[in-house]
Amino acid sequence: MKKKKIAIIGAGISGLSCAYLLSKKNYTIDVIAKAFSPNITSNKAAAFWFPYHIRNDKRGVRWAQKSYDFYVSLYNVKSAGISVKQLIKVIGKNIIEEDPVWINFLPEGSCSMIPESDLPEGIAKAYNVAVPLIETQIFLPYLKNYLTKAGVNFIQKEINKLDEVSNEYDCVINCTALGAVKLCNDETIIPVRGQVALIETKTDFPIYLDNEKPLYIVPRKDAMIVGGTYEENVYDEATEPSTIQTLLNNAYAFMPELKQQKVIGNWAGLRPYRPTVRVEKENNIIHNYGHGGSGFTLAFGCAEDVAGMLEE
Ligand SMILES: Cc1cc2nc3c(=O)[nH]c(=O)nc-3n(C[C@H](O)[C@H](O)[C@H](O)COP(=O)(O)OP(=O)(O)OC[C@H]3O[C@@H](n4cnc5c(N)ncnc54)[C@H](O)[C@@H]3O)c2cc1C
Repeated sequence: MKKKKIAIIGAGISGLSCAYLLSKKNYTIDVIAKAFSPNITSNKAAAFWFPYHIRNDKRGVRWAQKSYDFYVSLYNVKSAGISVKQLIKVIGKNIIEEDPVWINFLPEGSCSMIPESDLPEGIAKAYNVAVPLIETQIFLPYLKNYLTKAGVNFIQKEINKLDEVSNEYDCVINCTALGAVKLCNDETIIPVRGQVALIETKTDFPIYLDNEKPLYIVPRKDAMIVGGTYEENVYDEATEPSTIQTLLNNAYAFMPELKQQKVIGNWAGLRPYRPTVRVEKENNIIHNYGHGGSGFTLAFGCAEDVAGMLEE
């Protein structure tokens, strides 16, 4: 039987996760993208597994759980850059905690409470969670390399209309994130800029997360990421020195010992936020975009749905 020709537009985590699952089936796959790692949003993610912006979407639980399991399955592949880390999620005093629905997304036994007697001053409550940490600077090249060996073609090209591609292929998978604003005339998707500071790393550190502030400290191999901002509708990817200093001050206030770590850089990335993630079939196009601050957390679950729609 003739192999079906599939075009995946976009080479971020959404596109590459689809390519990964489909490369195990009988398809000819082209990944077409305007930009590749490291020059894409996916490289700028922190990127630890944690569901944001997805609390009201029932599909999110399944997507996040599938992705969790997928990352854990790569734990022993050293070149993939994936580890399972301790995440301490803190709730400050005088903060009204949102219903912690994210606990339902976790495998049983991976979350416990830290005893009150062990909490530092100013903290009312803290969760101890085991989560995958995906080192984007290692994992994205790992995926591209894996896919190249599996026979997937990578083509650098900007697509101006989806019809240009959908006429040439049996199926097109649209993983263009903010590119969908123009390609699909989708005005419900907006950028949410995240600025972060980078300090010298301490890989034996856990991840710290204070959603309410918001503050997160993520010990990657190349740097400790200190984030972050959530700035809706900002397209500018330049960082602001005063904002970066505020992020550092928040981190120092939370953990004064971090002042000893040299500041080594900063960056900003644009989360592709949409009120609901679009995973949907439209003729011979399957859309997979709008993952906001959870692109890595959801990617392999969404890719599994895409693969299912392709087979229908
Ligand atoms: C500071 C920050 C921290 C984050 N932390 C986390 C985290 O801890 N955990 C987590 O799960 N998520 C996190 N995220 C969110 C995550 O980065 C995104 O959800 C994810 O990267 C989106 O991936 P994507 O593949 O959909 O989009 P992108 O990575 O933006 O990729 C889009 C692709 O489409 C291509 N493209 C677009 N338009 C066109 C076109 N017209 N023609 C051809 N190609 C096109 C682009 O070139 C690119 O290759 C964070 C984001 C930021 C900014």
